Amino acid sequence: MKKRTGLLIALLALSVGAGLVLWTNGDEKSKAEASEIEDVQDVNGDSSGKEELLSEEISMEGLHELFFDKKYEDVIRLSEMKLKEAEVDDKIVVLLFRSYVETGKLKEAYELVEAKSEVKDLAKHVKSAGVLAYQEENFELAKAFLGKMKSINGAEDTLEFRKFGFTDIYKEFTFLETEHFRFYFQPESLVEDIESFAKTHEEAYVNIVSRLGNIELPKKVDSYIWDSEDDINTYVGRDRSFAEPENTLTHFVYTMEPGHEMCHIIYYHFRNSHEGTRPNRFIEEGLATYFDQVDNNKLEIVKSIMKDANIESVDVDKLWKSSQAFQLDYCIGATFLKYLEEQEGWEKLYAFLKDPTHRNFNAVYGEENLEKLKAGYEALVNE
Ligand SMILES: [Zn+2]
Repeated sequence: MKKRTGLLIALLALSVGAGLVLWTNGDEKSKAEASEIEDVQDVNGDSSGKEELLSEEISMEGLHELFFDKKYEDVIRLSEMKLKEAEVDDKIVVLLFRSYVETGKLKEAYELVEAKSEVKDLAKHVKSAGVLAYQEENFELAKAFLGKMKSINGAEDTLEFRKFGFTDIYKEFTFLETEHFRFYFQPESLVEDIESFAKTHEEAYVNIVSRLGNIELPKKVDSYIWDSEDDINTYVGRDRSFAEPENTLTHFVYTMEPGHEMCHIIYYHFRNSHEGTRPNRFIEEGLATYFDQVDNNKLEIVKSIMKDANIESVDVDKLWKSSQAFQLDYCIGATFLKYLEEQEGWEKLYAFLKDPTHRNFNAVYGEENLEKLKAGYEALVNE
């Protein structure tokens, strides 16, 4: 007998779970059901907010709360039902879309935006969906999302559309795929031998990874090779070579040092794997310059730029706080890191790079050593 009651309650729970009564005003019957279900759920130790949903009509506020509590499946279930009604609040469409994206249901998200492209507030979330699809290498869907964003906004091609290689101009590019890269060379590229160019970049990749450890990148590096910064500006809309580590994507002028943008990408994923903090420019660009895989004397470059620009001395502290995007600053960062490695060894530098903050710097090198190290480096440059 007891068993049968249990079954009945379980069945009721199932029908509620399927969302059949959630949108009704809490009449006496559903309230009664709710309390029974609560009992069952208490036995299982899971009564998380279900009662609330049953006993009152869910408000926009309630839906928002569910969303911010990351209960995306609940938001999806409730919003999908609401969507069947004639008049639907735009905000519900947006929450449903975002919940689809959060749970990786990109196909459903795309169908929704197709059906509801009049909802202007969707645009920026459509962009996130496009970026996510790109990161998952679903390029077709990424292109569809980002194209949709354009039609919602009635705007020009977005930066994402251009940098992800979706505009028509890329149809003319020469494609070359290697173990870690997909290269796209501008038509009539100034790169004379694309095979050997690709080989150099593969070697750079292997060298950097051999220093930082075996890092798995989420996808191959999509590398667009341009003749000049002007071309990057014209066709992409950025004013110089750049890397986007989270998208494992880079656009750069062919004369760029082979390890530079690559290092930004690898270092980002290295740091994340150690839950490290994002460094400021001095360390970020310093390391990319240190690991640029060009065999030159960067200390001499620092000295000669200083001489030409009548700069008398270097102050590491000051640069660390506010380094500028200058070749001098990049080279000072690089030679400072190299100095640290020469003085204190790779192991310590590696420990610092995992979490490149001042705090970790002090912890790794010891506070009593800081002034000595900085002064030692400055003396080397300022001599
Ligand atoms: Zn850089």
